[in-house]
Amino acid sequence: MRRLLFAANWKMHLGPREAREYLKTFTLRYQRRDDRDVWFFPPAVSLEAAAQAVRDRGDLWVGVQDVYWEPKGAFTGAVSAPLAAQAGAQAALVGHSERRHVFGETDPETRKKVHAALSADLALVLCVGETLPEREAGRTLAVVTRQLDGALGGGGLDAAALARVTVAYEPVWAIGTGRNATPQDAAAVHREIRAWLAGCGAQRTRILYGGSVNLKNIAELLSEPELDGVLVGGASLDPEAWGQLVQTGAE
Ligand code: PEP
Repeated sequence: MRRLLFAANWKMHLGPREAREYLKTFTLRYQRRDDRDVWFFPPAVSLEAAAQAVRDRGDLWVGVQDVYWEPKGAFTGAVSAPLAAQAGAQAALVGHSERRHVFGETDPETRKKVHAALSADLALVLCVGETLPEREAGRTLAVVTRQLDGALGGGGLDAAALARVTVAYEPVWAIGTGRNATPQDAAAVHREIRAWLAGCGAQRTRILYGGSVNLKNIAELLSEPELDGVLVGGASLDPEAWGQLVQTGAE
């Protein structure tokens, strides 16, 4: 049985002071549970504050929302995986749809970021997912497979690196739109992702669903055993509501 993972993507919200206040509220509200992990992806400027705020809680991890593939150098504005790790990141989010579609990140760039994050010993959450036109054209599985091939395929990742990978299936049309995939639709894609991963020898990879997850739909989504957790944007920004959401299904 895989442990559930609840990952909060704060996007461009919550500076260092706000991150500290948020995590003070959250840690009072949520006590450790052995069946689940909770990870936070604050903006890079808030990484150190967030990491400090959860330093006594091994079940709460902090991660960086994006990394540049070079470790250091003249790349103004970029954050590398080793620098993020130095600020306290234990994980990296790579290939988020906003990086791909707002900032024009390509599959080869996502791949370089994946390798950079894993080389810096970070855990990885790789996001994949189709746009609405791609879904309507019946190309969901082709797109997701292309993204997996691009980011993780072709060998080059050993078993130890693959063991640090989580995949988040995030249909682009569901992100920030209030329209979530049904648990059955998500599960159908998760099964394909799981089969792809098994082909690389990764049998235990967690696969999250992301896209307009909230307090109203979380229980139904998690009732689908294909979902090993969720990646959540908007509904993770309030520490009280997130504290409630991450306890879904707990005894
Ligand atoms: C996300 O940012 O990864 C996300 C799924 O956002 P939201 O929950 O707001 O749809």
